[in-house]
Formats: sequence, structure tokens, C-alpha cells
Amino acid sequence: MLVSDAKVWPGDVTGFAVENGRFSQVGGDLKGGEWAGHTILPGFIDAHCHILPTGLDLLKLNLSSCWTENEVLDAVRDWLPNIEPGQWLHATQYDQNRWGSHLSRHQLDKVSNEIPILLRHSNGHASVANTAALRAAGVEHETPDMEGGEYVRDENGELTGVLLEKAHERVTSKAPEPSLDEMVAGILRAGESMAGYGITSATDMMTGRWDLAKELEAYRLASEQGCKIRLRMYMQWREVLGNGAIEPALLQELISAMDEPKCKVLGLKVFADGAIGSATAAIYDRFVTTGGQGRLIYSPEKLAQIIADIDAAGWRCSVHTIGDRSTDLVMEAYEKTRDPKIHRIEHAMILSDTQIERMAKLGSHVTMQPEFLYRFGHAYRAQLPDGIWQNLKRVRSVLDAGISLSFNSDRPIVAGDPWDGIRSATNRPEGFTSVEAVSIEEGIDLYTRGGAVANFEDDELGMIEVGYRADFQVRKGGTDGELVAVYKEEERTI
Ligand SMILES: [Zn+2]
Repeated sequence: MLVSDAKVWPGDVTGFAVENGRFSQVGGDLKGGEWAGHTILPGFIDAHCHILPTGLDLLKLNLSSCWTENEVLDAVRDWLPNIEPGQWLHATQYDQNRWGSHLSRHQLDKVSNEIPILLRHSNGHASVANTAALRAAGVEHETPDMEGGEYVRDENGELTGVLLEKAHERVTSKAPEPSLDEMVAGILRAGESMAGYGITSATDMMTGRWDLAKELEAYRLASEQGCKIRLRMYMQWREVLGNGAIEPALLQELISAMDEPKCKVLGLKVFADGAIGSATAAIYDRFVTTGGQGRLIYSPEKLAQIIADIDAAGWRCSVHTIGDRSTDLVMEAYEKTRDPKIHRIEHAMILSDTQIERMAKLGSHVTMQPEFLYRFGHAYRAQLPDGIWQNLKRVRSVLDAGISLSFNSDRPIVAGDPWDGIRSATNRPEGFTSVEAVSIEEGIDLYTRGGAVANFEDDELGMIEVGYRADFQVRKGGTDGELVAVYKEEERTI
């Protein structure tokens, strides 16, 4: 394949040749190729997202086009025939603010008394269930509310079906696990959607949420069935090294059956703290709403032990740490590993100058998700003291300190278009310090080459250079112009 008379990012090269799936010539005298007049970028690499959950959500009934109660009820009724025996009808993007008050379980019961129905609020913190769903989840008239959650009741004390926070989570968790076929369909659907943004590789950051063996099998099958993106996985550490972990021989078998480099496992994932919006990130300061300092998922000793075990077992480690307090603990544990450069730090949203210095010495790769500022900026302001929230995601300082960094989405928490992330980092939302902004060129680099670095494969992905695998996107006009084609190893996916 030949591309010529185009603008090939980032340089002044106007074309390239591809042979056997790799760039065989970049620049030089090339004429008569495809995509003249277009801008060509390496494929975006989203090195921190949740592929299977994204796909499963996309397979659910989406209520975002419903603006009245009746439209919601009609959409749910029309969707019923799609539900397999024993499964629940899940809908997403329910939002009662569009018409006033919540639907009740009685309204949903009229649609179905037998199939459990659960409508998830677009904010992800609430849902409405029909009686069948409450019954299946074991929620009864007498069931008491739990801390941090509520089964909403009417003036007569009857359950309305509206579930808030922990109550919503508990009922949601009682839904049957997706089948292998559903998982494969979900991954394929996620791949299609991501490719539609110019993404050519994505990394699932919590494989083993339901059943590790089944999920790894689903990723392998989706890849074999032509998934439009390369699939990378970090597995929940517990499912590999915790109590009741997967049989090592079975894990080995599942991993070696994968068709690298289309599909592969990268390492193990650990959570060190929570999030800012829920005041659960472990911080040195205090949250405005709760007066607390958030919470560590594990004691400092236990976290250090988990990381040491992962390192000793020869796995790469990746730790979710949002607060500055937990990030110090992660760095302390990483400093004791054989090679901190093979381990990753996820999020690191709050960082002091001293911590940035320490991180630079450490050498671990850091991933950041700039789209968060754009989507959750209001929640960060409400939760964190003045002087702290303005400085979230110190991208500029991290880069200037020479720390290895990448941009990613954490989809489905956000919509996940890399351009939304890049714009949020180049033009930080109002109130957030502009000194931490980066240029568009840097943003693209962090979402392409940076992603390849995060996935430990920057020797063959993330750049348009001789010898690299030919993953690239074609845009009309400039770098953020309309996407017209995506290629994964020379093969056109979009
Ligand atoms: Zn995540």
C-alpha cells in the first residue's frame, strides 16, 4: 500500500509505503498513492479503559433519545423480545430530570412482571427497578437501607423501585453474569466504537471483574473474530495471586492461545484508593463535603506486600492511585521492586512538587485521563479545598520533569473520544491552572506514542516510522478533522 501527497504527522513527510503490515518506507519520493490531501496520524492508543464494560453497555438499551415517561416505557417494551431467558433487561442513560419525577416499579411492572428490568441513571449512581428485579436481588418490603444507599419508599413506606448509590450497586450486582457469547459480542462492539474515534489499540484495566478465565477467553475469541482494535489486558491481581485465584496452568494456557500482537495480557492491576467525586481518594488534605481524608483500599503494609508479591511473581504491576497520600505509598512500594520501570501508576491526579521529583527518579510510567477535568470538573471543585482542585492533573509539570506519561480515557466512565481528552488538556476547563496545559502536538503524542509506551510496545507501535506496524488514521483537513479511515496493520477497519 502506498500513501502520498498527504500530511503525515508530526513531520513534513508526505507519504509512506506499507509492506506486510509494516511501514517499509516513510518519506522520500512517493507518487500516485492513496489519501492525497489528507492528514495521517498514528492510530490512537487508549492504554487505560474498560473494554468489556464499554461493550456490554453499548449492547444495552440506550434511553438517551427518550424525553418522556411514555417514550421510556415504549422503548423498554420494544426491547423485551431481545432478552434471553434468565437474563435481565438493562437500560442505560435513564434521566428523570427530563420530565420531572422518577418512574415507579409499578409502571415498569406493567411492561413486565417476569423479566427483571433495571434502568440505570445517566449519572451512574442510581437506577429504577421493577418488582421482578427487586425480587431477584432479594430486596423486600422489610429490607433496611444500608449506609451510603437507599431503597426509596413512598409515603406509605412502599418500595418505589428507585435505588440510590449503594442500593443501586447492590441490586445491579445481583444481575446474572454475562454469557461468553455476550462478552464476545460486547468486546467486538466496543472495538467498533473505539475504532470510530481513530483508536487502534486499547487496554482493559480490570480483566477478571466477573470470571477471569471466561473474560480472557472472550478477548481471545473477539480478537480472532476480527475485533477492530488490538486488545490489551491488565488482570485483577486477586484473580491471579489472591485466595481462590485461577489455576496457573489454565492461565498460562489461556494466555498462550492469544494471537499476539493483536491480543495480549500485560500485567496485574491493584486499587490503592477510591475517587474524588465520592470523597474516597486517599489525600493528605481533607474533603470539603466529608471532612475526611478518603480511604486506602488496603493498609500500607498490605499494599506493599501485594506489590512485592506481584513483582516477585514476575508480573508487571499497575496501581490505581488518585490521591497524593496513596501515591506516596505506591511509590514507596515500587522503589523496592526489581525494576520500577516495568510498573505503571494510574491517574495520580494530585501531586506535589516533591512527589513529581520522586516520580521522575522512580521511572515508572504514569497514565492520566484529561477528559475527567472536562466531565467531572464541577465535582472536583465541590469536593477539594481551594488551591488543590485547580492543580489536578499536573500534566505540564510531569512532562517537564521527564516522567514517562500517556493520555487515556477510562471509558466507559467518560465518552472516550481521544480528541475530548486532548482538548481538555490543551485548554483546561475554567478555574483549572492553565500552566499545566500542554500543546496539541504533545496531546497527540501522549495519545499515540505515549499509549504504546504505557503498553510496553513503543518499539513497534504508536509511530509512523520504518519497521513499525502500520496502524494509522486518516483525517480530512487537520489533525482533528473528520475521521475518514482507520487502518490496523494495513487492514482497513473503518
Ligand atoms: Zn479505570
